[in-house]
Parts: sequence; structure tokens; C-alpha cells
Amino acid sequence: MNAVLKPEDAPAEPLLKVRDLVKHYPLKGGVFKRVVDKVHAVDGVSFDLAQGETLGLVGESGCGKSTTGRCILRLIEPTSGEVWFDGKNVIAQDRSQLRALARDMQIIFQDPYASLNPRMTVGSIIGEALAIHKLAANAKAATDRVVELLEMVGLNPDYLRRYPHEFSGGQRQRIGIARALAVSPKLVVCDEPVSALDVSVQAQVINLLEDLQEKLQLTYLFIAHDLSVVEHFSDRVAVMYLGRIAEIAPARELYRRPLHPYTEALLSAVPVPDPEVKRHRIMLKGDVPSPIHPPTGCRFHTRCPIAQLPLCSTETPVLKDAGEGHMVACHFRG
Ligand code: SF4
Repeated sequence: MNAVLKPEDAPAEPLLKVRDLVKHYPLKGGVFKRVVDKVHAVDGVSFDLAQGETLGLVGESGCGKSTTGRCILRLIEPTSGEVWFDGKNVIAQDRSQLRALARDMQIIFQDPYASLNPRMTVGSIIGEALAIHKLAANAKAATDRVVELLEMVGLNPDYLRRYPHEFSGGQRQRIGIARALAVSPKLVVCDEPVSALDVSVQAQVINLLEDLQEKLQLTYLFIAHDLSVVEHFSDRVAVMYLGRIAEIAPARELYRRPLHPYTEALLSAVPVPDPEVKRHRIMLKGDVPSPIHPPTGCRFHTRCPIAQLPLCSTETPVLKDAGEGHMVACHFRG
């Protein structure tokens, strides 16, 4: 967890504000390729992120967490909603303004194998952003900065002239982190940065991200599909289900007092290190429904162990304050 700046110490105005973010993908069909349906990938997501804070964004695959992260950076154009970063309206920025903003907002991708160009040396991969943003006065200054970045992420500076295939998964993810940090961003969207790595390597990369946050005063949106990954690393955690936030709370509060039945089920699957502690596993019925025709009312009602019909299938629960910064979207909790 970030030791430099706690949410309660942070300035009143958050670094990032997301309001009612929506991303629908049109589905085309028929001879004329008309829009026949749409995928509700993200459907009204709102949250704040304070400077220096880490918000864990968690949910099963297909819940819209990665789409949310990419819409914030406008790597994907949102359908509607607002994103404010450092007082700037991200959605209203034109291409050149967006390029300038990209210096402050970077992303670390999930797959360290796919996200690095195999034909470029490590030095070129990390140095590319320096050239785009004209951040080095000359070639020597660029090389010096790449060396500094390699050392910062725990890699040997001699690796400069090597190619991505010469490295392990963990080393490649360190290269991806160095590339993201080259432009000295304020916000880093970490899009499942450890999901593709072995468990032992996961801990090393998470420790590195924590150290870098402390050293460089970074703010993280940390996307993961597993609550155990974000537990010790996040200041707050938001749980997503089928394009919406089901619950958001300070990390300790969420793990100690989960309120949403979906969070309870996810937490019941997290292994407890203490063999004396027995946790009752909550098995959810069925699969996650299709985001093309998501359930009406509460999207979780088709799997919820405490659903009451018709209320849960007709009325959409809004996120309501349950105290201690804890918000939950359920008619019967909070
Ligand atoms: Fe379950 Fe109803 Fe609460 Fe949704 S609103 S989580 S279906 S009880």
C-alpha cells in the first residue's frame, strides 16, 4: 500500500474523476451490415482517484474493467460519460491535446509478450516515448535516461541492445513498466500487469510497482480479476459486475465487511493463509450472463443467492453510502 500519500491526506480535488462512463460496442448483421444489437461493456461507471492513491478495479473477465481503463486513456473512445484528469476534460481533448496528456497518463499492459515490439531493441522500446515527446536533448541524453529507467525497474543497463525475446516474462513486464515511466506520468493504468506471470514473479512485480509509487508519487488504477492480488496493494477497491460497479470501499473495509453478495462470493474464493481459519465457499449458480442482453434491474439478480423478485429484476440498485467511504449497489445491503 502507498506509504507516501493516503487518500485522507490527498488534495480535495481528485486527480481523476470518472462520471457515468459508458461503452457500448455495436453488433452489425444482415446483408447491409446494420447495427442489430450492442455489447454493454461499460454501463455507467463513476469513481474518483486521489493523487498518490491506488484503486483496485476487480471483476471476472468480460466485466468491463479493462475497457474502463482504456476509455479513461481514450485508447478506446467511450460512448458517453465524463473523464476529468488533473482538471482537464479528457473526452473533449483533440488529438494533439491528447498526445500531450498522454505524458501524464500511461498504461502497463497485461501481456508482456504481446505488448513489446519483437523487432525493436529494449533501448528503442523505452526510448520511443522520449523521442515522441521530445524529452531528451540529444542521443546521449536519451541513452542516459533509458539506462536510468532500466536500473529503476531492476534490470541490467547492458540489456539496452537486446531484444524482447531474450527476456523472461517478469523481465519483459519490467521493460513495459520502464516504457510507461519514461515520460514521468502522474497516473498509470496497470491493466492486469501480473496475470500472465508465475505467482513468485507476480509478488516481485507488485513489490516493484509499490516501490516505484513511493519513489515517484504515482497514482495507480490497478485492474485485476482476482481480489487476492489487489488486497495488500490497494488503498480502495471497486468490484465490477457486467459493466457496473457493485461495491467500492477502502481495501481493509471491503475485505473485513463485504456488503454486496457478489463481493462476498468473490472473497469466499480467496485462499486464507491461516489453516485454522475456515471460509465458507459461496458457489454462484450459472455463468456470467451475456453483456449483449444483460439482465434487467440488478444485473446480478440471475445469480444472486438473496435476490427477491420482482424488485431485483425490475429496479436497478444505485450505489449508496454505507459509511466509512463504503458504497454498495444492492437493495438490501448498506
Ligand atoms: Fe442481489 Fe437484489 Fe442485491 Fe442485486 S439488488 S445484489 S439481486 S439482493
